[in-house]
Amino acid sequence: MLRLGDLSSLERIRSTVVEHHKWRSRCINLIASENITSPAVREVLASDFGHRYAEGEPYARLYEGTRFFDRIEASALKLARSLFKAEYVNLKPLSGCMANLAVFYALTSPGDTVICLSVPDGGHISYMEFGGAGVRGLKVEYFPFDEKEMNIDLDRALKKARSVKPRILLLGGSIFLFPHPVKEFRELADELGVFLAYDAAHVLGLIVGGVFQDPLREGVDVVSSSTHKTFPGPQGGIILCSRRDLAESLDKAVFPGLTSNHHLHRVAGLAITLLEMKRYGKAYARSIVRNAKALAESLHELGFEVLCEHKGFTESHQILVDVSRLGGGRKVAGKLQKANIICNRNPLPWDRLEEARGNPSGIRLGTPEVTRLGMGPSEMRQIAEYIKQVAIEGKPTGKVAREVSRFASQYQQVKYCLEEGSAYKYFRFK
Ligand SMILES: *Cc1c(COP(=O)(O)O)cnc(C)c1O
Repeated sequence: MLRLGDLSSLERIRSTVVEHHKWRSRCINLIASENITSPAVREVLASDFGHRYAEGEPYARLYEGTRFFDRIEASALKLARSLFKAEYVNLKPLSGCMANLAVFYALTSPGDTVICLSVPDGGHISYMEFGGAGVRGLKVEYFPFDEKEMNIDLDRALKKARSVKPRILLLGGSIFLFPHPVKEFRELADELGVFLAYDAAHVLGLIVGGVFQDPLREGVDVVSSSTHKTFPGPQGGIILCSRRDLAESLDKAVFPGLTSNHHLHRVAGLAITLLEMKRYGKAYARSIVRNAKALAESLHELGFEVLCEHKGFTESHQILVDVSRLGGGRKVAGKLQKANIICNRNPLPWDRLEEARGNPSGIRLGTPEVTRLGMGPSEMRQIAEYIKQVAIEGKPTGKVAREVSRFASQYQQVKYCLEEGSAYKYFRFK
């Protein structure tokens, strides 16, 4: 094993990257916020676009040298407007956090209040006072949450929002098992004369596939998102909006507010992913949710406490498992990693802050990547069995890791893309 201090030569850095690839290609990745891009996307991510600047808009640049990129960005915008059915698309944010910051910047002034979910209830750090909202000088209030239904407690949330008078009602989050009550919040936003925003980072691919909810059609003013979770594109951010009157302030917030260059190789990769999702988005999204339900059911049958059994566990790509009686999220996720199963420990709504930071009660499991590698419900049952062997039966992790490796090695092709091919071929250095 190499140590960090050893990486003082090209060979060592390269071989460490190769080691990473070898290892992760033999793992089952259940991180709900991760996905894998297609070979075509990977190819353009390594292209010369990654060295270039293109401030400004397609065909109206502040830089020379962009005539080919202009075509790429113009077609990415056109594809995005049509796929997301959004009049306004801004694909320049470099991440979901930056897309959120741009929304805050465009729609609020320092001292305003945003109301959203807290972190243990599924909110993201980018809307906390210690995160992006604080960077904009916003005060943050939290929606009351219904732990049993794992959703915003609508009646109490409407009441609270009326009393705190926020500038933005922000829906969406990182724990996202069930659609949020957009229509009801639309009525409230109209009543209060405030903005309704929706953070789709986790569920953008499900929205495109028509299997979750459709926030723009249900009435939100603006959607901010990452482009690399259930939407299987390059890491980056995007803003969608159906209101022309917000376009200028959103544009300015992103450029020159938060970006100068918007990483052109990423835009080329996004254009390809948009094509892939146009063609396969429905089938892919359906399969992601079917797999999440199958994984939840299998784990439940094997004795795990999967949240929300009474609601069919999930309607999204992710499930939550309470592992507090098996040693807690840190311990279980750690053991699973030793067995080549990668997931993250996650606080559950009833965790106190200390538990949430140290050893939270839950693990969160997501199916975007295993689905993209072609797995289906029978593979989910097998994965649940491996998880049981580690977390309940205490089988030696090395032994399980070898079985998981053999299992994972059969799923090395990226599906739902225009050219199916080995996801790893671009990273064999010799
Ligand atoms: C992942 C996530 C983000 C941030 O995305 P990055 O692209 O990592 O900056 C924002 N909001 C939510 C709800 C997320 O889950």
